[in-house]
Amino acid sequence: MKIAAQNVPYVNIGIQFDPIRDEIMAEVEAVLSSGMYILGEKVTEFENSFAEYCGTKYAIGVANGTDSLILTMKGWGIGPGDEVIIPPNSFLASASSVALIGATPVFADVREDYNIDPEKIKAAITPKTKAIMPVHLTGRSADMDAVNEIAKAYGLKVLEDSAQAVGAIYKGKKTGNLGDAGSFSLHPLKNLNAAGDGGMITTNDDELYDYLQKARNHGLRNRDECEMWSLNSRLDALQAAILSVKLKHLPAWTERRRAIAAMYQENLSDLVWVPTDKDYEEAVYHTFIIQTDHRDELQAYLGEHNIGAKVHYPMPIHYQDAAAYLGYKKGDFPVTEKQAEHILSLPVYPELTDDQVMYTIETIRNFFANKK
Ligand SMILES: *Cc1c(COP(=O)(O)O)cnc(C)c1O
Repeated sequence: MKIAAQNVPYVNIGIQFDPIRDEIMAEVEAVLSSGMYILGEKVTEFENSFAEYCGTKYAIGVANGTDSLILTMKGWGIGPGDEVIIPPNSFLASASSVALIGATPVFADVREDYNIDPEKIKAAITPKTKAIMPVHLTGRSADMDAVNEIAKAYGLKVLEDSAQAVGAIYKGKKTGNLGDAGSFSLHPLKNLNAAGDGGMITTNDDELYDYLQKARNHGLRNRDECEMWSLNSRLDALQAAILSVKLKHLPAWTERRRAIAAMYQENLSDLVWVPTDKDYEEAVYHTFIIQTDHRDELQAYLGEHNIGAKVHYPMPIHYQDAAAYLGYKKGDFPVTEKQAEHILSLPVYPELTDDQVMYTIETIRNFFANKK
């Protein structure tokens, strides 16, 4: 098989718009002429459909997927002197959110599938531990039965960082409905994306829901009464209206991501490590991250053939300058550290054509054939 050369950018967010242009523009015009730009009906509508999609009692819109982590942990009373356990292989907001409320991020290494290792969580628990934040990295759920069992045994809260995993299924349930609360980012790069920033919190907890209603809006109980100092972290109506349109398309988009992942799995597993689903899970492939000893060379070769491939993430969080005060060193998290040198994210988004995917596969196969 020989496929004509393709241009395969790593991401191409703009092309998502054209097929849904009419639906989106009708909503945008409705919001603009309503004059109701922050919170309000469109936000409530989106919150309701998002909660229904995740299977939770509540969903609360906020300004981004970092505030959603911060506000949820504040709602549980976590702050100075407390510790929260997180994986060192994640986007840095998983750690900064803990630090920004005055608590200490404590890392626990990951497994082969990039998600937090429950055995390592146990070893990281101290009398100061208040919560565990499993990150469903790459769109695959962490091992939530094991995480929840530990949390229960030690009386800890579980906050799912589901920023990359909207719609992912673990044992019949969606992420965001597997812990005490779920945090989502609606950043343009995520699977369900706003035309700007946005975030969501899902929960079945009445008390947390009541807190978040106030906490996202200056701590206001009503128009004039402020119960506590808090952030302005509201979702705006324009984003909510756009997101409501996109949520209807999300199942089809997810299906396409999974189909592309299946093509990579089928055609690359003899050459590189590829992620695969266990029988009880359906990952949503926010990223498709392979592992190879020849990562840098392969990335350069793909680049020469106009195929974008990236590394998520080249620097584990405990290596960041911002984390230096935590006192971790190289060697503390061997799995994460090894992965950082071997991982490569291939393009995976619904708009990719089969030809683009097959060209990427063929180019990778050529790279390894030339090595022999
Ligand atoms: C994107 C992301 C966040 C932060 O979301 P923002 O909306 O950019 O604030 C947090 N955690 C993870 C794992 C992410 O991928």
